[in-house]
Amino acid sequence: MSQAVRQRRELEIDLSRALKSGTELEVVFQPLFTAGELALSGVEALVRWHHPRVGAVSPYTFIALAEECGLINQLGDLVLRRACMVAGGWDLETVSVNVSAIQLRQADFAERVMALLDETGMQPHRLEIEVTESTLIGGSETSARNLSALRAAGVKVALDDFGTGYSSLSYLLRLEVDRIKIDRSFVRHIGESAQSDSIVRAIVTMAHAVGVAVTAEGVESEEQKNFLVAVGCDHLQGYLLSQPQSALRMVELIAGKASRPAKSGFEAA
Ligand code: C2E
Ligand code: MG
Ligand code: MG
Repeated sequence: MSQAVRQRRELEIDLSRALKSGTELEVVFQPLFTAGELALSGVEALVRWHHPRVGAVSPYTFIALAEECGLINQLGDLVLRRACMVAGGWDLETVSVNVSAIQLRQADFAERVMALLDETGMQPHRLEIEVTESTLIGGSETSARNLSALRAAGVKVALDDFGTGYSSLSYLLRLEVDRIKIDRSFVRHIGESAQSDSIVRAIVTMAHAVGVAVTAEGVESEEQKNFLVAVGCDHLQGYLLSQPQSALRMVELIAGKASRPAKSGFEAA
């Protein structure tokens, strides 16, 4: 075996072990704010893996690994369960959870989510699942059935990383989603050229024209924030306003009625 293959295999075994114990995996929460008042309105659950030997492993690495080696359903279940149990009781409009295309392909996915909501007492309309373009477009009939069953029950659906795929915007906006999240790659270029600004403005206008709400991801500067507010974005998320926070820190922020972040935003806990 080459070294890379061996390392990957080891990481796979470690992830499987981490999923069994659950202790190395943490769910952190990144706040979302209303664009107008900058009021704390929701959180996005983001999984973290604190590997005992390697340290923090990037979600981009271990989510992809989990998808490839058949562990994503187990990992996804853990995140959904913890997010609903921990954040379900918080006084916030929505709790968003990223869901992989593979999870949505399970025949009983919607049923299990509904059972979890029932068990944790969380109202369906407070849960938002984040899916990507490829999940919606290349998805199976089962995925489509799961999505419509969840939406019919009141669960919200957000289209994550909007604009990074190759599909036409008008096509995407005809899909059944409640919200789009404009990808960080667009937000990053705000203020750099008239063209990049026009693209963001057009996305917001088109989404609103079909009744879809808009969140901007990766807001890092005042200039980006001011532009996004001016073009009518509904919600903002990014390091300018807050880094992802531990559950404990979120409880403090909500208890402190921290509706407005400090000038420099909430630092990571
Ligand atoms: P995402 O769902 O688009 O989440 C946003 C990512 O951008 C997060 O990275 C967040 O920490 C980061 N971010 C937020 N604001 C800023 C900013 O202002 N600047 C910059 N540079 N980054 C910002 P993270 O936590 O590393 O997650 C990466 C990706 O991994 C997520 O992208 C999502 O696709 C995936 N992921 C994370 N947790 C889960 C999960 O529980 N399940 C699944 N299926 N995927 C997950
Ligand atoms: Mg997301
Ligand atoms: Mg995203």
